[in-house]
Amino acid sequence: MAEVKLAVLGGGGAGKSALTVRFLTRRFIGEYASNAECIYTKHLCLDGRQIHLEIYDPCSQRGKLSLTDELHWADGFIIVYDISDRASFAFAKALLYRIRESQLGACKKMVESAVFLVGNKQDLCHMREVGWDEGQKLAMDNKCQFCELSAAEHYQEVVAMFMKVLRNVTSS
Ligand code: GDP
Repeated sequence: MAEVKLAVLGGGGAGKSALTVRFLTRRFIGEYASNAECIYTKHLCLDGRQIHLEIYDPCSQRGKLSLTDELHWADGFIIVYDISDRASFAFAKALLYRIRESQLGACKKMVESAVFLVGNKQDLCHMREVGWDEGQKLAMDNKCQFCELSAAEHYQEVVAMFMKVLRNVTSS
């Protein structure tokens, strides 16, 4: 059975837990314990292959793993920002920079296709602070994939995004 480790990273409040829990349980839950650092596990079948998936969802305050640890732990990354919060976009940008830097360094197992930039809370587009084209450009600059979606309203898109990351990680 293939083992895949994904880290869902981003600024506090961007929706990391909401996306992860939505993918794992179909449910959108309004509030999460923001101090809880979680590693979720799930068995799933992807294109006929059994996969043991671990998803790391760090708490807003740094928890057990430092970013450097996460970069070495994970096979793939979902970098989340909130389209209605420009600061979260700047945070995502900094994370992508760190990931790219580490790819150039010791962490050779990572590949660019294993990084997905997600603009979350698309249902709040009336409060948008970050344009779709800005997200797209940031993704292109970092050679990663990009989508906007809403953990609250787009269950199918959330699943599709996780599956794309998994496919890329398992095929690399
Ligand atoms: P985290 O700190 O990145 O894990 O963020 P959370 O998952 O705890 O989400 C922070 C807040 O944003 C919570 O109140 C969520 O209910 C809310 N939230 C998360 N995703 C969405 C979304 O797609 N749309 C809306 N409107 N709210 C969301």
